[in-house]
Amino acid sequence: MDIAFIGLGNMGSGMAANLVKAGHNVRAFDLNAEAVDHAVAAGAVRGETLAAACRDVETVVTMLPAGQHVRAVYAEVFASAPSSALLIDCSTIDVDTAREVEADATSNGFAMVDAPVSGGVAAATAGTLTFMVGGGDDAYTRAEPVLTAMGKAVIHAGQAGAGQAAKICNNMLLAITMIGTCEAFSLAEKLGLDHQVFFDIASKASGQNWSLTSYCPVPGPVPSSPANRDYQPGFAAALMLKDLTLAMQAAQMTDADTPLGAKAHALYEALCAQGHAAQDFSYMMERIRRGA
Ligand code: NAD
Repeated sequence: MDIAFIGLGNMGSGMAANLVKAGHNVRAFDLNAEAVDHAVAAGAVRGETLAAACRDVETVVTMLPAGQHVRAVYAEVFASAPSSALLIDCSTIDVDTAREVEADATSNGFAMVDAPVSGGVAAATAGTLTFMVGGGDDAYTRAEPVLTAMGKAVIHAGQAGAGQAAKICNNMLLAITMIGTCEAFSLAEKLGLDHQVFFDIASKASGQNWSLTSYCPVPGPVPSSPANRDYQPGFAAALMLKDLTLAMQAAQMTDADTPLGAKAHALYEALCAQGHAAQDFSYMMERIRRGA
């Protein structure tokens, strides 16, 4: 399949390489020429411009930083790709923008899905991302084989914007469970409990959760967790703050009561403001331990 891939940053470069490995003809475009060089080295063809990358393709995949970039890129995609092309936006953006861009796509004759991902740079490189997809049934059916080449799970969440909705609800829950897990370890320390002993008990008791058992915020119990490598990400605190900001915007828009989400947002905002934006989001452990 001829695929244009726009946005070849930390995530997009691995994803585009996996499309090449799956046998697709990938045309790569990014504002950053070095990112395109990297994609070309992985087997993609250079798109000299966004319009050139999109000419006559069957699918366009985008992996961009935020809503404003998605709007800007799709304004050009609508003008340069054939309307038979399927449009797949994998960026994490606000639900409103996702719905608006998808409505614009429809009025320009395109089928489009939002397909944000769970999993970081390592999963993008390994092709083990989880995709949460919003869009109509036909568009989803067309998107699924393309996404399968980049991930281990593809889930149809509902109509336009539903992928973004699932993503921000999941990450709000992740932030809350991470903070709760950090609080439990901090209190356990102050009560004289050994990390491993508390882990062994809580991971088999009702406190069990992913932040504890797969991404433990203290070194030791889960060797693969970022706590064992000085909290190098993983999933940076800045990206968690971005997702919590999107969740809080959505909560305000829908009048949903999210007191713990709001508290998690405030705590990650403070952590980032203290200079820890680039560290893994489980670095919250240090902040909770310090108490400020
Ligand atoms: P990144 O900043 O590394 O990459 C984004 C790329 O988009 C850059 O190379 C940039 O030059 C390019 N770009 C921006 N505007 C463009 C335009 N107008 N035309 C062409 N290219 C343009 O970001 P990333 O870490 O790859 O994240 C991408 C998306 O994935 C974000 O929405 C992020 O929230 C989401 N995400 C990231 C992670 C992660 O761990 N990094 C995990 C899950 C989801």
